[in-house]
Amino acid sequence: MKYYVNENCIGCGLCESVCPDVFSLSEEGVAVAISEDVPEDALGSAAEAKSDCPVSAIEER
Ligand code: SF4
Repeated sequence: MKYYVNENCIGCGLCESVCPDVFSLSEEGVAVAISEDVPEDALGSAAEAKSDCPVSAIEER
């Protein structure tokens, strides 16, 4: 399971708060996801971040 952040991101920071193991805000002020598979113990919080993103910017790859 991998995620990526699309161009809809508004940099609200919610995903980083919910799942910092996978998402972080870049210097450009938008979120990025780790390129590796989501660690087993972060699957739940990563899915929560995806569903909570206000602009549906988190997608599965
Ligand atoms: S929750 Fe969505 S809009 Fe907010 S920083 Fe993360 S990807 Fe961007």
